[in-house]
Amino acid sequence: MSYSEAQLKALADEAVAMGRKCREGANADYIPFLASVPSDLCGLSIICCDGTLVHSGDCSYRFALESISKVCSMVLAMEQKGSENVREKIGAEPTGLPFNSVMALTTHHDKPLTPLVNAGAMATVSFIDAPDKESRWRMILDFQQQLMSENVTLSNEVNKSEQDTNFHNRAIAWLLYAAGNCFCDPMEACEVYTRQCSTLVTCDDLATLGGTLANNGVNPITGKRVISPENVAPSLAEMTMEGLYEFSGDWAFLVGLPSKSGVGGGVVSVVPGKMAIAGFSPPLDEVGNSVRAMRMIRHVADKLNLSIYNSGHDTVH
Ligand code: GLN
Repeated sequence: MSYSEAQLKALADEAVAMGRKCREGANADYIPFLASVPSDLCGLSIICCDGTLVHSGDCSYRFALESISKVCSMVLAMEQKGSENVREKIGAEPTGLPFNSVMALTTHHDKPLTPLVNAGAMATVSFIDAPDKESRWRMILDFQQQLMSENVTLSNEVNKSEQDTNFHNRAIAWLLYAAGNCFCDPMEACEVYTRQCSTLVTCDDLATLGGTLANNGVNPITGKRVISPENVAPSLAEMTMEGLYEFSGDWAFLVGLPSKSGVGGGVVSVVPGKMAIAGFSPPLDEVGNSVRAMRMIRHVADKLNLSIYNSGHDTVH
């Protein structure tokens, strides 16, 4: 079943109105730039596989992609090396621990378990074939643009704020390297990873990323194939297991959609074969997921009965 544009727009408006009422959470402050983003910003975009796009709220505000960039680089690594190699070298298991946990690493022989935590994302960046740092970076940025839009660019301000303070990630990169799980110079992996987190996107861009996955690898706006069909399901599986960190299991239980969050306040959820929903609002819960984005997406998913675990998953209430 498909939904009318008017129906989706009304639902997006309803979700944003509800999201704006929520006063919980706080901006990330361990990255100085993120603490300065206005907390009231709130937007929701829904994109269907046919390219229909509706949005409500602050959907043209450009915010930092942060950990959602982990999905882009994971897919790029799968495109280059095959999903099985990504699973073998980096992993396909939830950690059950915070996204920057050193314990998650050390208790698993320094294997990251998933490309969607900081350790796994830096290992993924290092796993991508590139002759040098700048080519590695250009490949990743170009792939983000293909998955979303050409408007995705690096913010020098966010990047500086992160590169100046990313000591914990640098330590993780050296641990990976010491164990043979970093496949380029560890400081190169950390620097390029930090840049990929520092690109600016709108809620519409984020929805397009999800829409490309929902649309079996074809960007619903540009019509171009970006992901090979065989890499879509493994990517969605990784998102289900680790996309919202320690809340991933609860999210699968409550909402049932492969998703990914970033500490910039974005969350994107994929409804395979149908649509993607992207929410943005800076205040985060203790896990690092945007409180309002999760509420808004959950509202839409509930109303449209979208859980992938639900056999009657097409009903409109
Ligand atoms: N750049 C951030 C970091 O490395 C991304 C974390 C996130 O969005 N969860 O900590």
